[in-house]
Amino acid sequence: MEQTFAIIKPDAVERNLIGKILERIEAEGFRIASMKRVLLTLPIAEGFYHVHKERPFFKDLTKSMCEGPVILMVLEKEGAIKAWRKLMGATNPAEADEGTLRKEFAVSLEKNSVHGSDAPETAVFEISYFFSQTEIIP
Ligand code: ATP
Ligand code: MG
Repeated sequence: MEQTFAIIKPDAVERNLIGKILERIEAEGFRIASMKRVLLTLPIAEGFYHVHKERPFFKDLTKSMCEGPVILMVLEKEGAIKAWRKLMGATNPAEADEGTLRKEFAVSLEKNSVHGSDAPETAVFEISYFFSQTEIIP
C-alpha cells in the first residue's frame, strides 16, 4: 500500500478545521497510519522545505509553518501520493477545483491549509523526516 506524507498547516489548525479535514481524508478511503500534533521550529521547517530554499517565498513559507501547531500524518491508500494531491487541489486556492480541500478551506497561496508529498522519493524523505518506523502502524 502506498504511503504519503500530509500536513494540516497552522492556518487550518488555527481555524479549528482539523476535524473537517480528517473527515474528508477518511471519506476518501485513506488510512491514517500515523498522526501527531507538533509546533515546528524554524530550523525544522527550513530542513523540511530545503528544496525551496532559493525561492523568494522561502522565508515567509518557513516562518508561517511555525506560527502555530500543525498536524503531521502518514496516509495510506492505493496511489496515495496522487490521490492526496488531488484531494488537496491546486497550490493556489484561486485555481483549485471544486470539491478540493484548498478550494473549500484555503484562504490564500500562503495560507493554503494542507501539504502533500509530490513524488515517491519526496514521500520517503518527508515521512522519515518526522516519523520513526515504530510510529507507523499500517
Ligand atoms: P506543499 O508543498 O505545501 O504541499 P505545493 O506542493 O502545492 O504545496 P510548492 O510549490 O511545493 O506547492 O510550494 C510550497 C508552499 O509554498 C505552497 O504550499 C505555498 O504555501 C507556498 N508557495 C508556493 N509558491 C508560492 C508563491 N509564489 N508565493 C508565496 N508562497 C508560495
Ligand atoms: Mg510541494
